[in-house]
Amino acid sequence: MRIILLGPPGGGKGTQAKFLEERLHIPPISTGDMLREAKKEGTALGQKAAGFMSEGKLVPDDLVIALIEERLKKKDSHDGFILDGFPRTVTQAQALGKMLVEKNLKIDAVVNFKVPDEVVVQRLSGRGTCSTCGLVYQRMGICDRCGGALVQRDDDKKETVQKRLQVYHEQTRPLIKYYKGQGVLREIEGVGSPKEILGRCLKALGVKDSLAS
Ligand code: AMP
Repeated sequence: MRIILLGPPGGGKGTQAKFLEERLHIPPISTGDMLREAKKEGTALGQKAAGFMSEGKLVPDDLVIALIEERLKKKDSHDGFILDGFPRTVTQAQALGKMLVEKNLKIDAVVNFKVPDEVVVQRLSGRGTCSTCGLVYQRMGICDRCGGALVQRDDDKKETVQKRLQVYHEQTRPLIKYYKGQGVLREIEGVGSPKEILGRCLKALGVKDSLAS
């Protein structure tokens, strides 16, 4: 299955991508994680992306498209993937469509997480991200999985969150219409507990939820 998770920053895409990986055994691919890694390693891409990221702006399309093109060549994504945070512009969506058509593949479903702006702001301001494994919590402290310290991401600071939301509305929201037009859009309410939202995701994807009552 080839899935795109669409929604605002802090909309729960990353958390659900990890849950879906466990259920569907296909890799989550997060351009945000890949760019943060590149930044940490100080690669040429990381250096180019850093300024855009810290200001809450999108990294230029050509850089992100090239990153995804390379990632999708890896064998683990050949039987399916869960894209989290890509595409974020219509140009990126068109480039992805072209990449897939060339391989005779297509996107099976785009799950759009509907989350009001106030909830996004509230979630991001209280979000702690593990500095070691990247797992996300709604608290600070220590990561339950690996014991790493939970820290606030630079771009989760209040001023940057407003910018990220503006960028989302202007550049990413048009993708809802784009994928609706392609007949692959599934909309879900993104407010609720992570397990509730997983249930909605699985239902939207037509996957049997063994934990559902
Ligand atoms: P995320 O972790 O998905 O919220 O991404 C963090 C930051 O990485 C974003 O605010 C952008 O600066 C950058 N980024 C991630 N994915 C993309 C993308 N598909 N296009 C452009 N910039 C991106």
